[in-house]
Amino acid sequence: MSRPCWKSRQTATDAQVNLGTGKQSGPPLAAAVLSAAGLLLLAGLAAAQGWRNLALQPCPFDYSAQTCASDVTPGFEFIPVDAGVLLTGERLDPDAVLHTFRVEVEIGIFGGPSVADALSTIEAVLGHPRGWTARGDLTFQHVGSAPPDLSILLASPETVDRLCAPLDTQGYLSCRNGPRVVLNVERWKAGVPHWDAGLEEYRAYLINHEVGHFLGFGHAFCAKAGASAPVMQQQSVALDGCLPNGWPFR
Ligand SMILES: [Zn+2]
Repeated sequence: MSRPCWKSRQTATDAQVNLGTGKQSGPPLAAAVLSAAGLLLLAGLAAAQGWRNLALQPCPFDYSAQTCASDVTPGFEFIPVDAGVLLTGERLDPDAVLHTFRVEVEIGIFGGPSVADALSTIEAVLGHPRGWTARGDLTFQHVGSAPPDLSILLASPETVDRLCAPLDTQGYLSCRNGPRVVLNVERWKAGVPHWDAGLEEYRAYLINHEVGHFLGFGHAFCAKAGASAPVMQQQSVALDGCLPNGWPFR
């Protein structure tokens, strides 16, 4: 049994906008320029097309609390636009593994980022020269028109707890659960008290740590007091004498 699980906040119908999914294999600078251009175009199209009006799609995931007829997480919204840009670090191998992703933001969460802002931040982190794509062996591409390999969600603490169960996130932490990374919007907004490296670095940590789980990495630990913390250390819990660090690579 299924039921519609995502409701448009507007009533007008709207065709999905597709900028194409062609792979860009040019140098990172070109990719970055294309990415920036794509985001600008995306923002313009989003405003012009009223992208919140989405058609319901099949839902591939069946969480205990809800069965839905959409691959969009119930209560979340996203931008149904394919940026068509590969996010890479400093280089890209021809055989790099491609992971498609989508960014979804819970509707109505207090003080959260817009979907466009969340997408912009997450794209910058995934394509950063110190991010997971830095070694050229994998890349990420935003998709809006098809179910992604990975959905990156920004959610209220209560929703994080629900989507992360049976993992206990205590209304505080974030998680990766199957093909979803679920980020606690309170951490996105404020970080954690013991973090003194700035909110931008913390958000990079938040994204890179949970995406690291999606990529198959488990937890790491502080090797030596004063050293840079490994990104897979649970730095939201404690730094254990290490220095805060948001990146997998130097
Ligand atoms: Zn973790």
